[in-house]
Amino acid sequence: MGQQKPTLEVFWRAAKTVLSVAAGLLQPLLPGPAAARSPSCAPDALGVSRTLYLGTEGGWRAGLKSYPQTLALDDHEVILTFDDGPLNSTTGKILDALAAECVKATFFLVGRNAEASPALVKREIAEGHTVAHHSYSHPGATLRRLSEKAALAEIVKGFTAVDKAGYGAAGATPRTPFFRYPGFADSPETLAWLAQNNIAVLGADLWASDWQPMTPQAELDLVMDRLDKEKRGILLFHDTKAQTAAMLPALLRELKQRGYRIVHIAPGGEPPPLRAAPPGWTSETDKIIANVFAKEYGARPARRPALAPAPMGAR
Ligand SMILES: [Zn+2]
Repeated sequence: MGQQKPTLEVFWRAAKTVLSVAAGLLQPLLPGPAAARSPSCAPDALGVSRTLYLGTEGGWRAGLKSYPQTLALDDHEVILTFDDGPLNSTTGKILDALAAECVKATFFLVGRNAEASPALVKREIAEGHTVAHHSYSHPGATLRRLSEKAALAEIVKGFTAVDKAGYGAAGATPRTPFFRYPGFADSPETLAWLAQNNIAVLGADLWASDWQPMTPQAELDLVMDRLDKEKRGILLFHDTKAQTAAMLPALLRELKQRGYRIVHIAPGGEPPPLRAAPPGWTSETDKIIANVFAKEYGARPARRPALAPAPMGAR
């Protein structure tokens, strides 16, 4: 009997390897973006250039704004991500724009918004997007300022609400084990818990600063400027922002024109290779959080920063 468990484990490991190798070999034979295009797609639609399956064993973290490593993308590859939705007035427009260009994105949902608009969650899933997690209520204090117990409750309640809204039922673990912290305000305790539960933490490499009011054209210029400097990365937007919804069709055309390719991320497979940050890297989000704290509470030292950066935690 003592032999049985290791033997089974060896078997499963071997089976997983065979499956992931087979998936890799079959990749070129599977229908590409062109085949996935609906008739409503323009013939020169941007499409998805590849899908990156991200195994989450060990609960890695990625995104240079917060962590010294990110997903290993090639030059001119971008991953589109949208936070804080769904929201009836804007998320549908975002989905329309993505569908028109046959582009897939990842949505980090707020649980209570998913409860309020389950049809949009179902639409995101039906249209092939990845539906991931961003806490239950996006607490203004951020998870970093909650007790460990309260922060974990927020995370788990968010998983449940999103999966119930999207799939009709929630299991013991989230369907998509991808989590993004509200305001990027992580904490050692919750990071350890997520890692133990094989849930990956996705930050961002670039953002459009769409929490700041600006015209869609200004937002487009800003994000393309930043992208042309970095040439690749995980892009963060908010599907709750009207200016982002208005900008998105032009952004997708601009990405196409400048030779960028869309990478879609989905759960599954082996943990991904990560690219290390350049030497001298520091966390930009921790600096923002500290600045917000200093503004709100003066310069007195705090054990932990108090508030989310207005940007990401605005809602
Ligand atoms: Zn957020």
